Amino acid sequence: MKTYLIAGNWKMNTTIASAQALASSVVESAHDLPQNVHLVLCPPSLYARTVVETIATNNAGSRVRVGLQNCHHEEKGAYTGDVSASMAKDIGCSYVITGHSERRQFSGETDGLINKKNHAVLAQGLTAIYCVGETLQERQAEETFTVIKKQMLGGLDGITVEQVENVVIAYEPVWAIGTGLAATAEQAQEVHEFIRAELSLLYGDKAKSIRILYGGSMNAENAQTLLAQPDIDGGLIGGASLKADSFLTIARSVVS
Ligand code: PEP
Repeated sequence: MKTYLIAGNWKMNTTIASAQALASSVVESAHDLPQNVHLVLCPPSLYARTVVETIATNNAGSRVRVGLQNCHHEEKGAYTGDVSASMAKDIGCSYVITGHSERRQFSGETDGLINKKNHAVLAQGLTAIYCVGETLQERQAEETFTVIKKQMLGGLDGITVEQVENVVIAYEPVWAIGTGLAATAEQAQEVHEFIRAELSLLYGDKAKSIRILYGGSMNAENAQTLLAQPDIDGGLIGGASLKADSFLTIARSVVS
């Protein structure tokens, strides 16, 4: 049976009180989810420790983990305002999102830099949720596969077959993020299948067990169809992860 990962990217939202309340609502229902679903909550870094504690208090640590939305590629040093993967580990996080399109767009992150972040995350024994995806312009120019391949090769450069066990790929078409216009199940499956094929060129049989999440306006209504696709192993959810009800409905939509 396939194990699904449903990850919530809260972005720069919530307060300490609402982060705690949202995490509590999610973990209180986590025990009732299908056995083959695991959850990851990615709050703003400042609130991650609170979310870790909320999960521990509810004894839900085996089903719900915490991740950061980004980290610096160095372990420590004079990098004002940044946080490192070792700090993420230190406060009890298990995941870090890397290469999100908003960081590529607003912070100028390149595949080369993101590759260093992936290495930093893996060096701490954490799991990287590495995001790839094409813009609308690239899709319209029929460059989707070229762009995804470049991002895969760049971001995964030097990552070994042993290390890749701790990598999750998130296919997030940029045109679908925050727009309410999710990819159709066919569009998403086509790219997921391509990603799986690229992974098998890089990692052989191991590719079968690498999880590939879909992200981009996934919600309570479209989750079931998307999650039923053979190469979609979960979701990275933005807007719909800010309400426990919609996030949990997505998690319940998996094929169990
Ligand atoms: C995201 O930012 O990772 C995302 C998928 O956002 P949304 O679900 O809001 O499109």
